[in-house]
Amino acid sequence: MRMSLSKAAAFEKTLRPMMSFRYDKGKSYRIVFPVDEQKEPYLYVRKVHNVRLGTGNIMGKRVCLADFNEEGYCPFCELRRMFYTHVDAEVAEYVKNNPDATEEDIAKYKKSLTDNKVPVGRVEGLYGFIVAVLEYDERGMKPKTDSEGKIPFTLQMLFMSNAQFNKKFLIKVEQIDNELDFTEMIFTYPEADSKMESARNLDMSFLPNPDKASKVIDPTLIERIKEEIDKLDTSEENIQKMFYQLRPMNMDEAIKAIAAKRAAYLESMSDEEKAAYASKLKDNMDAVNVGDLINTFLNEDEPQPQVTEVKKDSPNKMANAILAGLADEDEDDDDFDED
Ligand SMILES: [Zn+2]
Repeated sequence: MRMSLSKAAAFEKTLRPMMSFRYDKGKSYRIVFPVDEQKEPYLYVRKVHNVRLGTGNIMGKRVCLADFNEEGYCPFCELRRMFYTHVDAEVAEYVKNNPDATEEDIAKYKKSLTDNKVPVGRVEGLYGFIVAVLEYDERGMKPKTDSEGKIPFTLQMLFMSNAQFNKKFLIKVEQIDNELDFTEMIFTYPEADSKMESARNLDMSFLPNPDKASKVIDPTLIERIKEEIDKLDTSEENIQKMFYQLRPMNMDEAIKAIAAKRAAYLESMSDEEKAAYASKLKDNMDAVNVGDLINTFLNEDEPQPQVTEVKKDSPNKMANAILAGLADEDEDDDDFDED
């Protein structure tokens, strides 16, 4: 595309009119939560996994695909299940070889296999708000007002993890009867060794003195935020186009992304384990592509299990089964990590 320099300078903005909220540790931010005419916030929610496939691979929050196909199949759920199948087998082996091991020893051994090694976290909520981030100094005390006394701001997508949303935000907004109305909050990310640790200790608070609210300092603020939001296509479809965290990955890509890890786990399984795992999958998943999946577990010369028909009434069976069985088996980092 040929264009002038000045147009090119604005080009990026036309591609991506809104960015994800980014924070620095040790800084405070003034954040306003806009609402629409029905007084509803601009909030987008997804079921996600925290995926960590290692350097060079996809990392961070990824939408659980179980809700996006009739079979309820999610490669991330599968990899998680496989990981724990592998861990269980290793633990059983350990117990066999160490008959005198105490429960504590066994727990310690299991921990050594899972600590920072879980490739896919359990399904949890991810909450994305369209917010106005106001331009203030680093301590969130002084607005960077322009010559007309207006406080500059940008609309951004603020993602909250399950823990941030349920354990911090909801508890806070109870104080205002859960009714956001261009409510201004101060988010303080304390000094810490890492950004993740800082996010874990994030403090969300309302202004101690309502007279110091930004909308009092700048009476045009709310109107200007409304105008900016009106310019934006806030439809689910458009918003998920902008943020991968809200967008289900293409199934083939997701399967490709987990392929190396899956192969590694398979490599470490005995044939009996593979067969047991394959039949477990068959029992728990009504996927049409379960046949392909099972083929990868079994040697060509072994008899192929029959593929069950798709049961349309149980799209989430596999994810639910995994959730029920594994919900508390690992401790995921509850903060939202940066991509
Ligand atoms: Zn999933």
